[in-house]
Amino acid sequence: MNPPSHSFVTGLRCLVCNAQYRYGNQLTCPACGIDGILDVQYDYDAITSIMTRDALARRKFDQWRYRELIPILPSAELPHLQIGWTPIYDVPRLASEIGIAQLSLKDDGRNPTSSFKDRASAVGVLKAKEFGFHTIACASTGNAASSLAGLSAAVGLRSVIFVPQRAPEPKVTQLLIFGATVVRVRGTYEEAFDLCRVSCNTYGWYDRNSGTNPYLVEGKKSAGLEIAEQCASDLPDWVVVPVGDGCTIGGIGKGLQEMKKIGFIKRVPRLLGVQAQGARPILDSFRSGGHLVPSVPDTLADSIAVGTPRNWRRAIEQVKASDGTMISVSDEEILEAMRVTARLGGVFGEPAGVTGVAGLKRAVNEGMIKRNESALVIITGNGLKDIDSARRAAGNAIDIEPKSDLLEKSLRELSII
Ligand SMILES: *Cc1c(COP(=O)(O)O)cnc(C)c1O
Ligand SMILES: [Zn+2]
Repeated sequence: MNPPSHSFVTGLRCLVCNAQYRYGNQLTCPACGIDGILDVQYDYDAITSIMTRDALARRKFDQWRYRELIPILPSAELPHLQIGWTPIYDVPRLASEIGIAQLSLKDDGRNPTSSFKDRASAVGVLKAKEFGFHTIACASTGNAASSLAGLSAAVGLRSVIFVPQRAPEPKVTQLLIFGATVVRVRGTYEEAFDLCRVSCNTYGWYDRNSGTNPYLVEGKKSAGLEIAEQCASDLPDWVVVPVGDGCTIGGIGKGLQEMKKIGFIKRVPRLLGVQAQGARPILDSFRSGGHLVPSVPDTLADSIAVGTPRNWRRAIEQVKASDGTMISVSDEEILEAMRVTARLGGVFGEPAGVTGVAGLKRAVNEGMIKRNESALVIITGNGLKDIDSARRAAGNAIDIEPKSDLLEKSLRELSII
């Protein structure tokens, strides 16, 4: 299938062997198998002349304002929900807590289903429709699933979601309310994942299982495109991103590089990729320079608890291209980041969502980032997604009979009065 003449996609390139493929509904490089992640290529010269500042000034504030850099058909009917163009807040009190000159937060919990994943799912549902599918499927307990369920509802597609037996009830509820068919598999996540892949083949469903789908990361890229436009002349020295599978940081890096390529920014901020200590195979591979070694993940930050990440090459490639680095943080540091991000920044993030804040703090303490530098941290998911962790971070309410003297006693104990 050839792209329509007014699309700017020139083809797909394998990140492992560099082979070039024509645009189409192809997931990975046939020569390299599941490892051969494909990267969408564009005609940047043509885009430079069309996607100008003047042109952008007339467009809506969502991720489709960069449509030349997103592989969807010009005729695609866009979801009516607002995807992307999330706010960036300057947070000086959080900056001084962390010990850095300037800090801002980009709150991606403000997306329609409250996570960064909406950027990718929005592209996923449009690709499913373009390639003629009526049903889209994925295996996940987390934000990829709720986002897919929400975006499918928005564009009138059926969604089937495979969750492992131990999927948390609030997340399953978010899927069901959007009308997804939820299949609770009595087994592990891996078994749910396998059943999903087999079913996609058997029943002709579109496979949203990210990592291997080349188009989803092009949606995640929009956060990088936005940062370049929103910060313009005042670009931060560092952009800090939590890392699980590696698509998010890989996409953001690609977006920033593209904005440099087409002349919007003069330099690309350095990327700091942050993993949880209990799930850091990409960090280990970044340090060793060797092939990824899968591990068994163990962290409360469920959205980045990935032991076998698919997009590790893309993540490392982008971190290096930006002259950036990677770091890991403990669950205790993540819970602390939940508290300070909420209390000093006014933003309530889920554990993975605030992992960047924890990583920035550690990087500053270890001297990897200098105190006179500036940073922008992406908050990737809203804190209401994971109430159990939030409760662990937050502490307890004052619990008393309705009596003034009891209140006064408690307030004194807490040094409130
Ligand atoms: C998926 C996710 C991430 C990590 O993205 P990857 O592409 O897996 O690296 C970070 N935070 C949240 C909230 C997520 O849902
Ligand atoms: Zn290949």
